Amino acid sequence: MKPPLRARTVKVGPYKLGHGLPVRVQAMCDTDTRDVRATVRQLRLLEDAGCEINRVAVPDMEAALALKKIRKQVAAPVVADIHFDWRLAVAAAHNGADKIRINPGNIGSPEGVRAIVKACRERGLPIRVGVNAGSLKLFKTVRGRVALSPAEMARAMAREALEQARMLEDEGFGDVLVSLKADDARVTELACRLFASQSRIPQHLGVTEAGPLLPGAVKSSVALSSLLRDGIGATVRVSLSEKPEAQVRCAYELLKALGLREYGPEIISCPTCGRCCADVRGAARALDAAIYADRELREKARGLKIAVMGCAVNGPGEARAADFGVAGIPGGNGLFFRRGTPQGRIPGRDWVKALVKIIRQRGKTS
Ligand code: SF4
Repeated sequence: MKPPLRARTVKVGPYKLGHGLPVRVQAMCDTDTRDVRATVRQLRLLEDAGCEINRVAVPDMEAALALKKIRKQVAAPVVADIHFDWRLAVAAAHNGADKIRINPGNIGSPEGVRAIVKACRERGLPIRVGVNAGSLKLFKTVRGRVALSPAEMARAMAREALEQARMLEDEGFGDVLVSLKADDARVTELACRLFASQSRIPQHLGVTEAGPLLPGAVKSSVALSSLLRDGIGATVRVSLSEKPEAQVRCAYELLKALGLREYGPEIISCPTCGRCCADVRGAARALDAAIYADRELREKARGLKIAVMGCAVNGPGEARAADFGVAGIPGGNGLFFRRGTPQGRIPGRDWVKALVKIIRQRGKTS
């Protein structure tokens, strides 16, 4: 396969997306878009969690028109997700959507595609072509399930994405992004690679229907990390069967582990062993929960490495890379250390309170 081509730049709201630009985090609301109050509430929660681009479902005209009120009450760009009816896409474009996500193959007629392009061009909006393995044209033309190998499936997806993007480009419309998603990590990765080797259109990455938190996070990481390392991917969504805020966190953790984005601190905590003399699991979990439930604290802790270790024998040394941390010592106290050097004791077991206090003081003394 040829190496990936450099993606061109496309703008979504305030964000420039494409080669060499920051990878942005996306999520999708699970509210009924017609319920303006509930949707705005969730969009604000997502913004608080750091979500940069949010998608909402637009199943009918009432939802398309509701975008006008919704968009006025939120800061982050809103993507309208539309299937089958081009009129909904046109209405969404004229009612405040920042991007339209369609599948030109199921949106109706070529006239419908032209109407969407016209509306998006007038409003300066990009269009995302979403190709999902489960809705490939191939499946619709035969009865029953087609047994394709992962490579055949990936090729079919890349071909369909190229064809669908061409339908827009044939109209002289270039502000296009694509996504190629499967529920299989190998198919997703290969489809995205194949597409990137043939097109400069920037990609939105994700494994679709990734599953519950743990398997979904692992599967998404397996599929997306090598793509992101190779510069493929302008935006990311981790489609977990979880609250949308958890999807945002997971996407950031993936990007953070790859060194592509910063998001809160990195908590270094040991797995514990027979030397452990502290509740490391409880403390690490509680510290994580305290930081990520509080936007201000998360921002203050951005870029820090904070250690929670089970013993002072190995803890401070093994966590030398941490900016600061605490290790268990016999007798019920904790040993506080900075860059591996002991600084004193933290009385009792209330490590989380002590560590949170240090984070809050960040920037006050330095
Ligand atoms: S830091 Fe101490 S308790 Fe934790 S794994 Fe290492 S030796 Fe065991």
